[in-house]
Amino acid sequence: MSCLQKNRVEFIAQGDAKYNELSTPYNTRIRTRPRIIITPNRVSDIQYAVVCAQREGFKVQPRAGGHSYAGYSTGDANTLIIDLRYISNVEYDPRSRKAFAFGGARLGNLGLKLGADGKAISHGDCPGVGLAGHSLHGGFGYTSRMWGLSTDHILSMKVVTATGDLVSASPKLNSDLFYAMKGAGDSFGIAVEFELKTRTVPDKVLRFIFDLARYSRDAKRMADVFVNVQACVQSRSFGDNYGLTIRLATDAFRVAGYFYGKEADFQRTMLPCLSKAAPVTITIEEQSFSRSLSSIAGDAPLRRFIDAPGAKSNFYAKSVMIPEQRPLNKAQMQDYFRTVLEAGARVPNQFVITFRLMGGTGSHVKKDYGDTSIPWRDTLWIAQHDGQTQRNPRDVARAITAMNDQLEGSIQRNVATYFMFPPFIDPDLTREESHKMYLGDEHSRRLQRIKTKWDPTNVFSNPQSVQLERRR
Ligand SMILES: Cc1cc2nc3c(=O)[nH]c(=O)nc-3n(C[C@H](O)[C@H](O)[C@H](O)COP(=O)(O)OP(=O)(O)OC[C@H]3O[C@@H](n4cnc5c(N)ncnc54)[C@H](O)[C@@H]3O)c2cc1C
Repeated sequence: MSCLQKNRVEFIAQGDAKYNELSTPYNTRIRTRPRIIITPNRVSDIQYAVVCAQREGFKVQPRAGGHSYAGYSTGDANTLIIDLRYISNVEYDPRSRKAFAFGGARLGNLGLKLGADGKAISHGDCPGVGLAGHSLHGGFGYTSRMWGLSTDHILSMKVVTATGDLVSASPKLNSDLFYAMKGAGDSFGIAVEFELKTRTVPDKVLRFIFDLARYSRDAKRMADVFVNVQACVQSRSFGDNYGLTIRLATDAFRVAGYFYGKEADFQRTMLPCLSKAAPVTITIEEQSFSRSLSSIAGDAPLRRFIDAPGAKSNFYAKSVMIPEQRPLNKAQMQDYFRTVLEAGARVPNQFVITFRLMGGTGSHVKKDYGDTSIPWRDTLWIAQHDGQTQRNPRDVARAITAMNDQLEGSIQRNVATYFMFPPFIDPDLTREESHKMYLGDEHSRRLQRIKTKWDPTNVFSNPQSVQLERRR
């Protein structure tokens, strides 16, 4: 701390007025708290802070939007947190059609800024999520099947490294660091600025909801719907212009999403997928692209004020990804839905399950946009089991685990290799398990070599971060 004082970097520690607010993670179920927090407004303060942390034996984790499920941007008693809220501006350059976003930018503010020029990048649902934490672990949203992952929009970035240097990383400059940051950023440095390619937004978006709540207690009917939709999204007529989810909760079951095309094409390609599920209530609404962003966020405002206390949640979540090449069949899905109904009945109204369509015909998530440390592009569905844990947390955790385990068991019987979705990071996994499930063996080995080069003292560290290469 004396090092920070000497370099005139202001910091917040336990006992300071702002400590409680700044040290409480988004997921309040997580109990660890950091040693020190800084909220710099100059990149040079970040550089000093990393050097000081090295000198005084602290670990460092940056915080962008602070939405880590595991609270990894909150750290522990040995961690210095660099909260990037005051380094979060976004600019758009109409001549190059590129965006320049600082490390603390939030998705909502990014969407608003780019939307003013009819531009966007693909990203996830929540406006408060940080571009950095999101895109450096992939980042998936409704437009990703059409445009690729959030990380695929990063053309270059500026990174504060373990030595406190500020370096550029791109496919041409420090390409090993660029590769490592795009998938495992928290282990390698602090991205302080992103150069992003942008997309032109469609004029109109169709929001669609097929409400199938009447089937929500019938495992067989839900399995029928699931496999029909699944066959449809893998058929030749399906397109990249769909963002689609299947969602299940107590007394709720729906297929919903956003279509970035013409209504006639929607009618032709989507309605047959659900024809066998009739009677079903269908809602279709035409929206502007910017309206669709807040609709996706549950009608939350896109603008995020950096000093406003952020929303919090208390939850337990598990996810698993279903590979494209071996989808689950009707019998497997029926067994799964039976487990969900049984386990869910013990924690009514405290769980939500979402299957997000990542693959299917034409999905650009599979496209080669350059070298990234992401092994899970060949995924058909991301399945997330999410339970609210303010009440009876143990029962909720048990139910969520039973549901996820059931699905994972079927996946394991179908394929030798499958993955989990790193943005939905699960703190219950050991470091080894997390590397296998989020990065895969091949990327893990390559990342360890790069870690040894760029962060030989392992200053960028959390319970699941990439380790140094073992000496032989
Ligand atoms: C309500 C909610 C909705 C979500 N919806 C989606 C969704 O639709 N799609 C999806 O893909 N994901 C979604 N997520 C997951 C989200 O993408 C991840 O939690 C993401 O890591 C959060 O990023 P953050 O910057 O807000 O979090 P942070 O907690 O700030 O960061 C997450 C991790 O990234 C590291 N990090 C942060 N900034 C930097 C930086 N500048 N340089 C290097 N490392 C950094 C942190 O140290 C931490 O380890 C959602 C999460 C929540 C809570």
